[in-house]
Amino acid sequence: MTHSLRAIIGIVITIGLIVAARNTLVHGGIVKRTVLLMGTVVEIDVPIKSEADRAATQVLADRAIDEVRRIEDLFSVYKPGSEVSLINTLKAGQPLKLSQESFYLIEQSLEFSAKTLGAFDITIKPLVDLWSRAGKTQSLPSEQDVRDALDKVGAKNVVLNKADRTIVFRRDGMGIDLGAIAKGYAADRAAAILRQGGIRSAIVNCGGHIYCIGKRLSGHSWMVGIRNPIDKGKTLLQLPLHDEAIDTSGDYERFFMLDGKRYPHIIDPRSGYPISNGIVSASVIADNSMTADALATALCVLGKDGLSVLGSYNGVDAMIIQEHAGVFTVIKSAGFKGKHGSEKEIELKL
Ligand code: AMP
Ligand code: MG
Repeated sequence: MTHSLRAIIGIVITIGLIVAARNTLVHGGIVKRTVLLMGTVVEIDVPIKSEADRAATQVLADRAIDEVRRIEDLFSVYKPGSEVSLINTLKAGQPLKLSQESFYLIEQSLEFSAKTLGAFDITIKPLVDLWSRAGKTQSLPSEQDVRDALDKVGAKNVVLNKADRTIVFRRDGMGIDLGAIAKGYAADRAAAILRQGGIRSAIVNCGGHIYCIGKRLSGHSWMVGIRNPIDKGKTLLQLPLHDEAIDTSGDYERFFMLDGKRYPHIIDPRSGYPISNGIVSASVIADNSMTADALATALCVLGKDGLSVLGSYNGVDAMIIQEHAGVFTVIKSAGFKGKHGSEKEIELKL
C-alpha cells in the first residue's frame, strides 16, 4: 500500500459508513479494486462464483474504476481542465454549452435544491471558498464577507436552457461545487458499468457513498454498517441492503476548529454559515446513490424537519442523529423504522 493511500484511508475511517465484515465471502472468490479517486478511496468488490469468471470480472471492475476517474475529470472543482472549472470562470450573462452529462447533473442538482427548500445548493461555492479560507487562516470571516458571498449563492441565479443545452449565471463571481452529489453519481455510474457487463452481485463504495448491486452470492442481502459517530470504533446499526444505495453526511466528517468551536464542511445556504444545528449525521437509503448523496447533505442542513422532504421521493428512508446539550437522539423516518428498525441496533450511549 502506498504512503498516500494509507493516509487517505486514515481520513476515510471518519466517514460514517462501513461495509460490514459479514460480507466476507465463504465460497468462491472476489475481485477487488481499491483506488484513490475524487479525493477519497473508491472500492469495488465483485464476488465471483468460480475462478473461470475472474479475468472477465477484472476487466469490468477496471472499467468501473475508469468510469469514476472519467467523472472526476469532468466534475472536479480542483482540476483546472474539468468542465466544472470551465463553468466556474463564467461571468454574469455569459452562456456556456454543456456536455449532456454536466447538464443532467446540474439539472438534477437544481431540482434537489427546489425540493429541499434550498438546503442543498451546488451554487454554494463562494461560501465553501470563504469558509475553507477561514479554516486555513484560522480567522473567521466578517458578517459582511458572509453577506457578500451569500449574494453570489442561490440556485435561482442559475439558468439552464434545455434547447441549446447552455448554462448562464445571473451574477458575477458565481461558481458551482458538486461535492455533495458527484461521488454518489459516480457510484451509480460504476454500478451501471458492472450491471451492463452482466454483474448481478457487487458493492461499489466511493468514499462512503455505497451502492449495493443485488445480494451476496449466498442469497443474503449485503450488510452495511452505520458507524457510531460518537464512538467511531463501533457500529451503530447494520442494515441489509440490495439494489439500494446508502450515504451518510455529518458534521463530524470534515470540519475545522477555531476558538474551541467546530465549523463543519456543510454550509447552510440560507444563512451562509456552517451548520450548527446539532445534527451529527444524516444517513439516507435510496434506490440510487446520487439521491442518497444529495439528500444526506440536505438533511444535515434541515435536521429532522427535513424528513418531510422525503415524502416527494419514492422509497427514500433516512436516519438522523442529533445532539443537544450532550444528549444524542436518533430520529428515523417512518420507512426507515419499518424496513430497518428491527435490525440489530446498538443504542447511542456516551
Ligand atoms: P457531503 O459530504 O456529500 O455532505 O458534501 C459536502 C460537500 O458539498 C462540502 O465539502 C462542500 O463542497 C459542498 N457543500 C457544502 N454545503 C453544501 C450544501 N448546503 N449544498 C450542496 N453542497 C454543499
Ligand atoms: Mg452529499
